[in-house]
Amino acid sequence: MKDSIASLTDLLEKVSSQRFLEAEAVEDLGLADQPAFPFLALVGQREMKLALLLTLINPNVGGVLLIGPRGTGKTTAVRSLVDLLPEVSRSRCHYGCLPEDIETGGMDAVCPDCAKRFGENESLIYYDRVRLIELPLNAQLEDVVGGLDERAVLHSRMRLKRGLLARADQNLLYVDEVNLLADDIVDAILDAAAQGTYTVHRGPLAATYRSRFALIGSMNPEEGQLRPQILDRFGLRVIVRGLEDREDRLEAYRRSIEFKNHPQRLANEYFNSTTLAKNELETARNTIDKVKLTPEAENFGLNLIQGLGVESLRAEITLFEAARAYAIADGREEASAEDISLIAPMAIRLRRSSFIKDYLTSQSQEEEELDKLMLDMSSESSKKTTKSKKSTKSKEDQ
Ligand SMILES: [Zn+2]
Repeated sequence: MKDSIASLTDLLEKVSSQRFLEAEAVEDLGLADQPAFPFLALVGQREMKLALLLTLINPNVGGVLLIGPRGTGKTTAVRSLVDLLPEVSRSRCHYGCLPEDIETGGMDAVCPDCAKRFGENESLIYYDRVRLIELPLNAQLEDVVGGLDERAVLHSRMRLKRGLLARADQNLLYVDEVNLLADDIVDAILDAAAQGTYTVHRGPLAATYRSRFALIGSMNPEEGQLRPQILDRFGLRVIVRGLEDREDRLEAYRRSIEFKNHPQRLANEYFNSTTLAKNELETARNTIDKVKLTPEAENFGLNLIQGLGVESLRAEITLFEAARAYAIADGREEASAEDISLIAPMAIRLRRSSFIKDYLTSQSQEEEELDKLMLDMSSESSKKTTKSKKSTKSKEDQ
């Protein structure tokens, strides 16, 4: 690792492109779990890596959709993120009560158990690493949002069971093959992602759960399209293609074989740069609020979106919020027009709907016809009125 690394973007640029020949034999760092493939060891795929980092830095980016064929490293990239994530505070309680609930809503805002804990000066939270929650492909709506706890029903108590979306709170939610999921499940996930909470009703019971997560979806367009209204709700969209460069392909092959045979050795090789990236990411997350867009950046972004005829306001939200995240990842507190142009393809592509364009064109033609018709009719009727006035007048004259 060179000392000249100054920012997260720098790290992404320099570390991943270093040639990896054979890992040095280093002492075992004693990590208990099977390590994940190091994020910085992913060869190429700069846009995918950048999009994933930006969505972790700034939740307002609105998640990422990775679009591409199988075997292009989408799932590996997503799984490799866990080593970069900071610790977050979590509720100790089944209902997800938090100290800030008491601050804003008093003791009634938490469950009796938590009120008791709070009264006894016990902490309602604990610190834990962000986890990667993967939605199983065969998941049912009940698994996703939760439902009646059948074991509790057996003991003649009615209780709701937390669903996957509640478990995804403060985590990463990865939905592979999002285009193959049932519509009601996709809607539930996207609603929770947008609101940060969701409510389940089952018979007389209802419960609201926190569900703040970074959403990452992936799809292979060969296997089916995503409805345009769902596509629109993903912030960044990345087209992931196979590596083109022969050297890169060879390098990717070497690293994946090394990971297969000696996962810990590869993890150790990237341990220092991973730690550095994790710290940089945490700093970026904590300081994103300071970043301002220059007026030139705002103008440039709006011109791009208008020039392309994109209707959805989500284009601006993602474009500007991702540009702010990029600026802070690059160690700056001002997002420029250059940042906008760098982010624009990820934020704006696949947002233009030919259906909406045609629909709006025919709509405005219809409105023109309607206006013309109303104008004609009103001039007809005003002629009649004048006529009738005249006739009245002439009658009066008579
Ligand atoms: Zn509680």
